[in-house]
Amino acid sequence: MRQAGKSLPGDAHALRVIWPFVPVVVALALFTIASVDVLSAVRAFAAGESEWSKGQKNAVMHLLRYGEDRDEADFQAYLSDIAVPMGDHRARIELDRDQPNYEVARAGFLAGAIHSDDIPGIIRLYRNFRHVEEVEAAIRIWADGDREIAALNEQAMVLRQLTLQPGCGIACVDPVLRGIVAIDARLTPLESAFSRQLGKASRRVTRWLTVGVVVVAVGLLLSAILLSQGRLRRERRLREALAESEERLQLAVGGSNDGLWDWDMRSGRLYFSPRCAQMLGFEPDALPHARETLLGLLHPADLNAFDDQLARHLRRGEPYDAEFRLRTSGNGYLWVRARGRQVRGDDGRATRMAGSLTDISEPKRYEAQLFAEKERAQVTLQAIGEAVVTTDVWGRIESLNPAAEALTGWREEEARGRPLEQVCALCDEGSQSPLRNLVGLALQQRWSGTTALLAGRGGRMVAVKPSVALIRDRAAQAIGVVVVLHDVSQEREHAARLAHEASHDALTGLANRTEFERRLAAAIARIRDTGGTHMLMYLDLDQFKVVNDTCGHAAGDELIRQMAAVMRVQLRKGDTLARLGGDEFGILLEHCTALDGERLAEALRRAVAGFRFTHRQRTFAVGASIGLVALDGGTGGVAEALSAADAACYVAKENGRNRVQVYHPQDSVVQARHGEMEWVSRVHAALAAGRFCLYEQEIVALCGDRRAGRHVELLLRMVDERNQLVPPMAFVPACERYNLMPMIDRWVVETAFDALARRRAEAPDDIALCAINLSGSSLADVRFPAFVREQARRAGIALSGICFEITETAAISNLTQAADFIEEMQALGCVFALDDFGAGMSSFIYLKHLPAAYLKIDGSFVREMLDDPVNQVMVEVIQRMGHAMGKKTIAEYVESEAMLARLRELGVDLVQGHYIAPPVPFAPRPRPAPAVIDDGLDLVVPVPG
Ligand code: GH3
Ligand code: MG
Repeated sequence: MRQAGKSLPGDAHALRVIWPFVPVVVALALFTIASVDVLSAVRAFAAGESEWSKGQKNAVMHLLRYGEDRDEADFQAYLSDIAVPMGDHRARIELDRDQPNYEVARAGFLAGAIHSDDIPGIIRLYRNFRHVEEVEAAIRIWADGDREIAALNEQAMVLRQLTLQPGCGIACVDPVLRGIVAIDARLTPLESAFSRQLGKASRRVTRWLTVGVVVVAVGLLLSAILLSQGRLRRERRLREALAESEERLQLAVGGSNDGLWDWDMRSGRLYFSPRCAQMLGFEPDALPHARETLLGLLHPADLNAFDDQLARHLRRGEPYDAEFRLRTSGNGYLWVRARGRQVRGDDGRATRMAGSLTDISEPKRYEAQLFAEKERAQVTLQAIGEAVVTTDVWGRIESLNPAAEALTGWREEEARGRPLEQVCALCDEGSQSPLRNLVGLALQQRWSGTTALLAGRGGRMVAVKPSVALIRDRAAQAIGVVVVLHDVSQEREHAARLAHEASHDALTGLANRTEFERRLAAAIARIRDTGGTHMLMYLDLDQFKVVNDTCGHAAGDELIRQMAAVMRVQLRKGDTLARLGGDEFGILLEHCTALDGERLAEALRRAVAGFRFTHRQRTFAVGASIGLVALDGGTGGVAEALSAADAACYVAKENGRNRVQVYHPQDSVVQARHGEMEWVSRVHAALAAGRFCLYEQEIVALCGDRRAGRHVELLLRMVDERNQLVPPMAFVPACERYNLMPMIDRWVVETAFDALARRRAEAPDDIALCAINLSGSSLADVRFPAFVREQARRAGIALSGICFEITETAAISNLTQAADFIEEMQALGCVFALDDFGAGMSSFIYLKHLPAAYLKIDGSFVREMLDDPVNQVMVEVIQRMGHAMGKKTIAEYVESEAMLARLRELGVDLVQGHYIAPPVPFAPRPRPAPAVIDDGLDLVVPVPG
């Protein structure tokens, strides 16, 4: 935009356009004036000549008349007439001088009857053109004429003289008169010649002037052409420059994608370029060019800021650069940036303002995103548990987050600007030497994070893991450092607690089984190297369950805790006392002879036995059975050592409890115990190798109360390493003792449910009720019902077809849990059978607490009932009692027709046994039928033909 002060005034501009024509016009004017002058002079000459001729002719006439009639008036007329040529003569004579007196010449011409206005032209013509051929010839004729006039005047004077003489008649003057006539006769051709010559001169002048006009016109034309060509060239150059500048502007504006606006403050017109409209989603010409358009589009919230900025620009001359929102055609709002400048008039007042409009919605979006991200980062920093410290590249603190403030004891305002080392005084955890130049190391990328100690402001030392990272700008130049201090003290405490919990028993604080085994392994390894003996004790409290049962589990716990303390004081400093589980303890006496070991074991037993546990005015004395084993270089390993000690403890129990039993490998009880332990590893191996399987044996109703489908009991079998089938009696006691039954029960439930689902899919009505044996430990497992539900859901079978068989001893020893379990499972549709019923004589008392549907009469009664009347009575009693309580009775081990007949007589509801149906494979299927080890148990007795 052009400043008004610098603009070229219009008249000067016009002058610049006009001035080349001024000399041309002036030349033309001068030429015309000169031409007119010349022509006018020529005309005046002609007029003068005419006056001259007229004067001469009149003079001659009056003279002749005077000669004849001697009238004075004629002579005076002559004198008056002759004065004309003579005046011309005086003028000519004067003009012929080098330095003429123009007044004289003028007076002469005036006398020559030439109009005073024509005289200057005649003088100029005479002076300037007297040497021109025609003019010169005319002047020559004029001079000849003048001479004749002079002669005439002489004759006139003579005539006058004669006439004045008295007596002079006509004859006297006749010669003079003839002489006058002769002069007149000579003058007449001269006048014609003069006229001709004047005509010639006039024509020549006309020719010259015509040529001159043509030349001047051509000259003018040429100069006009030249001038206008120059002008055109300049115009073209200007136009080109303008177009180029315009194009440049368009490109710049187009390239910048900006719109243009131009506000004429006087008229209020606000011009918007099409791009402005397009930016807002309108048609290019849709926006009316008025200030109101802009105000109408402006976001109401931006109105005040918009006015302020405009006022600041107009009043104080601050740069106009405003950001605001404008409504778009879609009724949304677009962020734009307007920049512009005012133009002031001559009076210094703003008259106009123009500038550009830029779409800044993208940058605004980025700005908003950036703000949100920064805010998020700030909030995160505030909320984060890690201490975060930022510094500049010189290691001066810039910020601390709240966690860093808490850790260092410095507040951010105090710390800002201080060196990092002052606020975060770190030292190496091992060497305790201060860690300096953390920032320098980070800048050189040589910082490798190690755990360090941070000295807080109050002197508190905290273990931290510092990590240092550089903050870089876009050009990857480091602009600062961020130090994150991870407080590891809590983690360490937690890890230590976990490590302690993993290796210690929560109840007593003693080492647990894992830790005990680890220490035992280390001790065995050491003894192999160093020789000597260690002593290992396996201690099991006697009849501990009594306390549990009579006083509750919490009291039992308290007894275990107190007993641990009692035992601890009996031991030497380096000895290990561990709780292996339940009421079992392990004691490792390192570098101890057998004798000392026996002495210590005995002291321990005595201390336990002598301790009195009191609970609510009841006092208990508890014995301890201790198995003692000497460990030396020949000891195989932890398992072997523990197994030996356990076996010895078992023997101590067998021998009457509350005693110390030293391990002797040859002892038969010890060997039996060992055998059990072996089973444990065999069972584990079989489970891992998938060598367990299920058989089914049918249970048949005797009294016509037949169900729609079959009632079967699933029997567990293990296939041993030689592919021999092993019945449960061989491994179940070991599994019960070593707590493997929950695992086995789960395997049975899972496998049975899967197989049952397949069976039901193949033959839906085949099996109506499927009995599954459960051990006492599963009854006590609170998670077992959930497991059963989950398996049923997974296999897609209804629990109403499942009967769980639990032994009455298992049920009674966990009576409450068993009742709860039965109730929960019954709610889901399961039925229950009490297995081996009658084996424990306490059965009857508990029976009413156990909502079982079936009573399975213990096999030992059934098997011998034909030979032993007592057994027969037992069967009968159970049968009657069962019926009285609304339960069905099942007799197992039915091995003959006679037995079957007797049972039918007694009214037993259902029978099972080899005579009825032998066990047959159930699941998993298919598998090769393994050979059966007949170990004399009833389950594998062949079916009679
Ligand atoms: P025995 O003389 O044969 O050792 O008989 P016992 O009564 O001591 O029984 P046993 O050693 O076979 O079993 C220990 C019992 O201790 C089994 C369980 O009910 C109970 N028990 C196991 N762990 C805990 C426990 O942490 N706290 C309490 N209060 N009782 C437990
Ligand atoms: Mg015990």
